[in-house]
Amino acid sequence: MSEGERLQKAVSFTLESGYQLDKEAFEFLHSVAKTEDPLQLMEEAVKKIRDLSQKPLFIDRVFLEDMKKASCVEEAKPFSSVSSVTNVESKKSFRPYAKDVDSELKVLVDPTKKICTTGSINEYLQYFQDRFERLKKILRKRMDVKNAVPISVALKSPTKSKVNIIGMVTEKIESKERLFVKIEDLESSATVLVSPNLSKEIIEKARSLLLDQVVCINAIKGSNDLIIAKDFILPEVPQKTPHRAPIPIYAALMSDLHVGSKKFMEKEFNRFLLWLKGKSGNEKLRNIASHTKYLLIAGDIVDGIGIYPGQLEGLDITDIYEQYEQAAKFLEQIPEYIEVIIIPGNHDASRKALPQPAIPKEYAEPLHEARKIYSLGSPSTVSLHGVETLLFHGRSLDDIAAVAPNVSFDTPEKSMKLLLQGRHLAPIYGERTPIAPEKRDFMVIERPPDIFHAGHVHVLKCNKYRGTLIVNSGAWQEQTDFQQKMGLVPTPGIVPVVNLQSSTISTINFTEPW
Ligand code: ZN
Ligand code: FE
Repeated sequence: MSEGERLQKAVSFTLESGYQLDKEAFEFLHSVAKTEDPLQLMEEAVKKIRDLSQKPLFIDRVFLEDMKKASCVEEAKPFSSVSSVTNVESKKSFRPYAKDVDSELKVLVDPTKKICTTGSINEYLQYFQDRFERLKKILRKRMDVKNAVPISVALKSPTKSKVNIIGMVTEKIESKERLFVKIEDLESSATVLVSPNLSKEIIEKARSLLLDQVVCINAIKGSNDLIIAKDFILPEVPQKTPHRAPIPIYAALMSDLHVGSKKFMEKEFNRFLLWLKGKSGNEKLRNIASHTKYLLIAGDIVDGIGIYPGQLEGLDITDIYEQYEQAAKFLEQIPEYIEVIIIPGNHDASRKALPQPAIPKEYAEPLHEARKIYSLGSPSTVSLHGVETLLFHGRSLDDIAAVAPNVSFDTPEKSMKLLLQGRHLAPIYGERTPIAPEKRDFMVIERPPDIFHAGHVHVLKCNKYRGTLIVNSGAWQEQTDFQQKMGLVPTPGIVPVVNLQSSTISTINFTEPW
């Protein structure tokens, strides 16, 4: 089959499936057809659209590009085969591109200085009200939610009338074939029946609802006070074209160093430093190092003390101050022209409840003495050459993995997608993730980010969702006994590097000598 015929086949298939390609998408498909099967891409695209709650009329280029990049990993191979090249290459002089580029870093959101709760019951009421109002506002921007009414109004509506209500999920009750979802707004509450006659897709959506999440429900008013669900609408992130840097500048993403642990991978981390300084790797790898201007560390810099039972036996350094001093010795070696941003994780010496303020100066002092760092809270948002990056350690990923269907500890990219869809970084209250009752809910995702970077689960995974690049950046700690007991297999020592101009990722593996 010729290129033209293949293209024709792909276009016919799209039309027969009930969708149309816009001009740019067609051009993109045309370029794909030169090297790949365009039909296969369109089959995947149509399959993906069928899973969407809001189906687009036209398929656009960004959607197809995202499809192609869904796996988004360009190179996850170890570089053992290039070790002989390494020595030759490293003798060449290294003139880093990023050294001649001025940093363009803006801190857009950092909760550190705005934290002020005392933790009283009254503050919790205020906190949940703020959460509800913020997410309601996001929901109301959607066309299909605009006419939502308070629960009390829906309850008074005539039987069989259509109602749209916004509420916080307070309970899910599953009995035999029936699923009930209890919701409440600021005045009243209601029980919503999820009928088994609904489509599989909608029942799945209901099952995936997280407690304390804010959602809109399309429903029919039943008899008495029962409300019968027809569909569930999450706040969602709109499909967007991500911001891109005007120049080829890269950010290396990492998390969970756990310095101080016996399992901290010092040898591998030193290899990373060597690469970053342009002293190892083939031409391609040195080129990536050369363009790397930012290093983003999403928490768990050190292993901490007393984080879980029996941790002490796994520690090399049992003093938290010394752990930070040791971490400083590594950060010190990062070339000066690279900007380093750190946020705390649950192992760091910051308060554990979310949002976490920046690691207190008392502990982080050696880091600040070692080099210039941006020490921010978790979650924080920064702009790097216009690319908005949300950094969050990811404590709540534990809770999501425990309750949401079809996700687990080794699929953090799926859990992170659920967080984006619900526009909240820590929806579930009262489980493993402590949440502080701040007046403003910093955990609401107000601005859909271009990059969503988290860690915590020690498994490197990436994904693209509606224009947002999702990255869970792995770790620098080998499997601990605790993780082994929990059945968690980490993927440490591999670093994802994002090209901020093209929003593509290269992963670099430091677990084997090059
Ligand atoms: Zn960790
Ligand atoms: Fe962690």
